[in-house]
Amino acid sequence: MTCSAKDCKAAAVWGLRWNNPKIHTPERRKVWLACEEHKPTLTSFLDRRGFFKDAAKVEDLLDTDG
Ligand SMILES: [Zn+2]
Repeated sequence: MTCSAKDCKAAAVWGLRWNNPKIHTPERRKVWLACEEHKPTLTSFLDRRGFFKDAAKVEDLLDTDG
């Protein structure tokens, strides 16, 4: 699995779990994958929009839907 950041080919280390309340039910979680370098960038992108929920190590993700 690779990082979700544009043009990044690094191996993902983190799964960033998020939810857009306008289109997702509250319990739904979408997941973006992030390398160490892009974790802060992707997290702040989601956080600014109020979508960010939490981050988990990729190996701890049970649900990679999205
Ligand atoms: Zn990356």
